[in-house]
Amino acid sequence: MPGENIIRKGVELKALTTMKTGGPAAYLVEPSNEDEIIKLLRYAQAKSLEVFILGNGSNVIADDEGFDGLIIKLGNNMSELIVDDDPEDPDYSFITAKAGCLLSKLGNTAASEGLEGAEFACGIPGSVGGAVFMNAGAYGADISDIAVEVSYIEDFKLQTRVVSKEDFGYRTSFFAHNGRIVTSLKIRLKKGDKERINEYVRELRDKRTTSQPLTVPSCGSTFKRPEGYFAGKLIQDSGLKGFSLDDSGAQVSSKHAGFVVNNEGKAGSEDIKRLIRYIQDKVYEDSGVRLECEVRFLGGKKEQ
Ligand SMILES: Cc1cc2nc3c(=O)[nH]c(=O)nc-3n(C[C@H](O)[C@H](O)[C@H](O)COP(=O)(O)OP(=O)(O)OC[C@H]3O[C@@H](n4cnc5c(N)ncnc54)[C@H](O)[C@@H]3O)c2cc1C
Repeated sequence: MPGENIIRKGVELKALTTMKTGGPAAYLVEPSNEDEIIKLLRYAQAKSLEVFILGNGSNVIADDEGFDGLIIKLGNNMSELIVDDDPEDPDYSFITAKAGCLLSKLGNTAASEGLEGAEFACGIPGSVGGAVFMNAGAYGADISDIAVEVSYIEDFKLQTRVVSKEDFGYRTSFFAHNGRIVTSLKIRLKKGDKERINEYVRELRDKRTTSQPLTVPSCGSTFKRPEGYFAGKLIQDSGLKGFSLDDSGAQVSSKHAGFVVNNEGKAGSEDIKRLIRYIQDKVYEDSGVRLECEVRFLGGKKEQ
């Protein structure tokens, strides 16, 4: 297999996901460059191995039975970040980051360079690739506001796309289709007042710490925001804030009803999924709104 030197067998997915669930992956490789990814994809196709692209695992519920295929994890080995001036406009700079770079690093680098617009990214615990795929966002801004170019692999070829708002939707993007693999993101930011930018980063961090259960395993918001509603409010109105079905560890957070948490990391993905289905049914019964999962599922049956 390409990347034989770095291939790992039977890695427990619970160690690679923030929800802390998931059994072993048959194969896991952390490639260092785009060529290696393409070789891995060809290998997987030749061997009929299912492939899953994993970033920082902060929006993935991995199956208790694990994954009988190849996980391509884009992380530290592909995490270079470069800051450049915009040669056409001295008021702007570009930052180009590889898919495995942490989104928080992108946001924090922008802030320390005195560049505005990426403050929202500082508190999101994903990778750049996962954030492009999901069009991650918070506090009124998302990736679509800052992205100018995305490189990705499709049909075994590395391509670059100049992107616009139309390439992104609410927690989705052009890159979430057709097996595309994001390999890097280029953003363009305006030079601003460094002190004010850092103050805003601190303000958002404080808001997050006050309102979200950040010390307990979770995937952040479990559900997408239904049009015209807030998922957390609907769940709370159904009396489910702090609710658990049993003592498995799966619980609706008592701090933020939009988060399903895995207390002490002791619940399995089946426990979490059972609670998710319960919440969906109860909220639907009470409000007529069907909550759709924002979290993604790795392995197992794709029923949600
Ligand atoms: C405490 C907490 C707070 C959070 N707050 C927010 C928030 O404010 N806003 C928000 O939007 N999200 C939030 N999230 C969710 C999560 O951090 C984001 O969805 C993030 O973008 C996921 O990135 P990741 O690298 O962890 O992706 P993963 O969880 O590894 O993967 C998510 C999906 O993206 C795909 N993927 C990952 N990398 C690539 C790639 N390079 N190419 C193609 N596909 C890829 C995976 O196959 C999977 O389908 C939060 C999560 C937690 C745990």
